Amino acid sequence: MDIIPTWAFYLAAAVAGLELGGLSTIFIQRWIDEEPICRPGGSKCPSCNARLAWRETIPLVSFLLLRGRCRHCGAPIGVQYVLAEVACMAWALASAHTFGLSPEWGVYLILGVMLIAGSLIDFETFLLPDRITLGGTAMALAASFFLRTGPTWQEALLGAAVGAGLFWVLQQLYRLWRGQEGLGTGDVKLMAMIGAMTGLSGLAPTILVGSVTGALGSVYYMLRPGRGGIRGRVPYGPFLSLGCLLYLLYGPQLLRWWQH
Ligand SMILES: [Zn+2]
Repeated sequence: MDIIPTWAFYLAAAVAGLELGGLSTIFIQRWIDEEPICRPGGSKCPSCNARLAWRETIPLVSFLLLRGRCRHCGAPIGVQYVLAEVACMAWALASAHTFGLSPEWGVYLILGVMLIAGSLIDFETFLLPDRITLGGTAMALAASFFLRTGPTWQEALLGAAVGAGLFWVLQQLYRLWRGQEGLGTGDVKLMAMIGAMTGLSGLAPTILVGSVTGALGSVYYMLRPGRGGIRGRVPYGPFLSLGCLLYLLYGPQLLRWWQH
């Protein structure tokens, strides 16, 4: 932290978070529309398909300048895109505060942005892309070999196996009990990624926070006046992801405080 002033680090973190958030909105849009992810070319308006100039795609700034509407057709810009950008910026700042300027920060910044993008896709489609869950598992396991803080590779591997195994068993039990799909296979793969990020010791607190916030979310969904699309189901991915991010930020300190 001596190399650059603190304020400059946080400013860079905020900008990096917004930019990654902007990239993730392109990923979200293309994944949901089943378009090639790696096609070159910028974003387009989902309602009139007009190509957007670079100045219309500056994260957050453009949304505010355009007052939330497409300049070409006037269609409202989906609030989930702004949400993705703001959430990624918040994650970039919070993780910068916890990890400081370090390789850990870089790795967890990317993994967190992947969880946020996956969560928004899960909310909209009840699906989680393998690119995020399996890609994230591979990345978190690889990172555990060289990062100095965070789980060792043995803990990360165990976390991934136990996380995915536990949710696979839950999925099978639910299927036997209700005769229908409750937990998706995407959630099982997501738990492999989350377990690899938190390590075995972080799994229980992560699932606890995920369950409590998920239960609160379910109540909100049930009480919310009839909006279609939810079909009485609640996606669990976003709540498990939230538990994972909160654990990464505060879990190890809390556990240390608890043990003393
Ligand atoms: Zn438009």
